[in-house]
Amino acid sequence: MAITDKIYVKNHRQLASQLDASFPKSAFSGATLDVLFTGDGLAKLDEASRERVLEFVEDFLDCDCQARPHCGHPQRKFVAYLLELRAQGLGPDAIVDVMGDDYMLYAYPGDVLSFLDDSVRTLEAAERLADVDGRETADEIRRKRRELT
Ligand SMILES: [Zn+2]
Repeated sequence: MAITDKIYVKNHRQLASQLDASFPKSAFSGATLDVLFTGDGLAKLDEASRERVLEFVEDFLDCDCQARPHCGHPQRKFVAYLLELRAQGLGPDAIVDVMGDDYMLYAYPGDVLSFLDDSVRTLEAAERLADVDGRETADEIRRKRRELT
């Protein structure tokens, strides 16, 4: 399961009741993207929640794809956001705190940790391939990986 399947909406029950609509707890499930993040119920949310929802939409759902929000970009952008936080030196617990403050989302720190470990391993594998292929690419990947560890 991708890390984006393990990102959850905080105060899920409260938001569902404000919207008077049900949606799953998982932030990136299709129905949540439809109901909470692209639905027309935004005005029904309390101000603090609405701000967070709008932030999320601006940062992750800002593509022009016809299939939006089901085009895969929101998930990819969120993965980039997690890696960016890691590159800034944050650990799993701090990353979970930040996504809570930024977007009212939460995850289990253990899941974030596995995701970061997997990302580093993927980069290591890419680095080995690039070593065979071309020096510059390998150096670039190596630099990325060092940012994460
Ligand atoms: Zn898109």
